[in-house]
Formats: sequence, structure tokens, C-alpha cells
Amino acid sequence: MEKLLELDNLHVSFQTYGGEVKAVRGVSFTLEKGESLAIVGESGSGKSVTSKSVMRLLPNKIGFIKEGAIRFQGKDLAKASEREMEKIRGAEISMIFQDPMTSLNPTMTIGKQIMEGLRKHQNMSKSEAKERSINLLKLVGIPNPELRVDEYPHQFSGGMRQRVVIAIALACNPKVLIADEPTTALDVTIQAQILDLMRDLQDKTGTAIILITHDLGVVANLAQRVAVMYGGMIVETGTVDEIFYKPKHPYTWGLLASMPKLNAESKELLAIPGTPPDLMNPPKGCPFAARCPYAMEVCVENMPDATDVSSTHKAACWLLDERAPKVEPPEEAVVGGAR
Ligand code: SF4
Repeated sequence: MEKLLELDNLHVSFQTYGGEVKAVRGVSFTLEKGESLAIVGESGSGKSVTSKSVMRLLPNKIGFIKEGAIRFQGKDLAKASEREMEKIRGAEISMIFQDPMTSLNPTMTIGKQIMEGLRKHQNMSKSEAKERSINLLKLVGIPNPELRVDEYPHQFSGGMRQRVVIAIALACNPKVLIADEPTTALDVTIQAQILDLMRDLQDKTGTAIILITHDLGVVANLAQRVAVMYGGMIVETGTVDEIFYKPKHPYTWGLLASMPKLNAESKELLAIPGTPPDLMNPPKGCPFAARCPYAMEVCVENMPDATDVSSTHKAACWLLDERAPKVEPPEEAVVGGAR
């Protein structure tokens, strides 16, 4: 498979009045042509900051890439100039944001918003760009695209607006599509339609997807590989089956256990007790140690290295050390009864 994007030991910080917030601490992963990688974790785990760093959309003068590389087709985006990034954003790598209400311009017609990227990156004439916009609206399932292309965002429902956002993101046939919580603002039935649409579009266009989410149900629907983030680091990575059926990291166990289960007899929804670490003063050992029911002395003092569980599955946990006590995942974290 062709490697499209490679993050290598990425560190991203924010300079605040209180000090430096180390939001991303040594993240590495690769994305291959046509694949879907989900990055999951709680709010504040660093998943959105990681994706915004790829687009170089960190808040000006506050957020900065401290160390590491973001190689896109061999070019290091961490060192690219703003002019170079303008050519890449929207054309080669594009992004769908969480809330379709705020990511569309209410004063411009849908057509004009789709045409903007086409005119800029693909030098299309007005009529060519309009025709392509109509085709894109058709592709994302908007009925009567010839009429709706001249309408404004307020004339569309939430789900339809997210379809338009996807059409804008796909307009220039990007190689990578970053979807940051693309269905969070939508109700469950519309969520399912948007996920179906994204899967279908990926089959048709071959675009690689990075899906940022806290929702493991969305992951199961769309992704092939998963990276679990906690405290600014990737703590476990593997195929969807490995993460759902053979998870090794206690944080992943916590996430799986907190998923609502339709057939469960238990009455209450489980949560991971405690709060994420303060990334202004990150712990020197495992970032999950303060909340982990299996934490040992070594966890507090030393960060575990990522251990290979299989050729596609890695986890950073001291429980995988041969000297550690044998611990099985809790029953609530086991999907489908496999251990
Ligand atoms: Fe828990 Fe220790 Fe593993 Fe961290 S390294 S997840 S604290 S057992």
C-alpha cells in the first residue's frame, strides 16, 4: 500500500498565560492510500489538535509544532510555508468540521461555497465549477441539485448541511479527508446516513479518511484502523477487530466499557472515574496512571514503551511487560465475549 501521510514523533504545544500546555506529545502514525484511520479518545486527549496540526490550522501565535514531522507524500508539512499550505488545504487534504451550522457561510449560496475551491485550486471557469458543484450535490445525495445549488445554508436541514460540507471537502478530489466528529451535531438516524455516505464516497473516490471521534459506534461503522489517544499520546493502536475484540490497554477497556449496550442487563452507564491529566504539568509516567485501577509503582514513575501485540497492534502499558501480573479486561469491556 502507498503511504500517504506519516506523523513522526509530533509534539504540539499551546503557549498560555499559565504556561505551556503540551497538548500532543510524541504522536506517530501512518495513513495509507484509501484507508480509514479513526483517532478516538476523550475531549482534551489531543485528537483534534493532531488533525488541525496536519492542516496547520493551529491558533496563530498560541499553538505551535514543537518537534516532529508531518510527511505528506514525502513533504514535511510541519516546515511548509503558509503559501505552500494554501495549495494543499482543500485541494490535497481537506477537513469536515463538527458543526455544519458554523462551517458554512450563511451569506453565500451553497453553490458559491463549493465553487470557491474549484475556482481556486482547479482553475475552472464559472460554468464548469457550477456544473461540478451540481454533480457533487448529486453525489452526496441532495435532491434537485440544479435548484438547490442556488440556495442558502438556512434553507437546508442539519443533515443536508453536513452533506454540503462533505461536498465542499470532496470538491477537489483530496487525497486525505479529515473528519473531525462529523456526526456529533446530528441526530442518530441522520448520523447513520452520513456514515453510509462517507463509506460509499470512499469506495467511489479512494480518498483516505482520518476520522476523529469519541464515539466507538462511529469507529466500528467507518474505520479499518484505530489509534486510541490519551493525555496527548497514542496509547493503543490496531485494526478495528483488535481494538474491539482484543484490547490491551486499560484506557481502551474503559472506553469500551462505557459504550451503551443494547442487550446489557446492567442498569447504569459505566464511566471512567477521574479526569484527564493536566497537560501543563503532564505526569512523567503513564498518563492514565491516576485513573487506572491496575496502576503499579512503575506506572507512576516511568512511561511504558509501545509493545507489539501483533504486526498491526501496539499498546503502551506496563501490564504487557512479562514481569507484570496477568490481568484480563473487565467483562464490560469485552465485545462479543472474546478475550
Ligand atoms: Fe494502567 Fe500502568 Fe498500564 Fe498505565 S501503564 S494503563 S497505569 S497498568
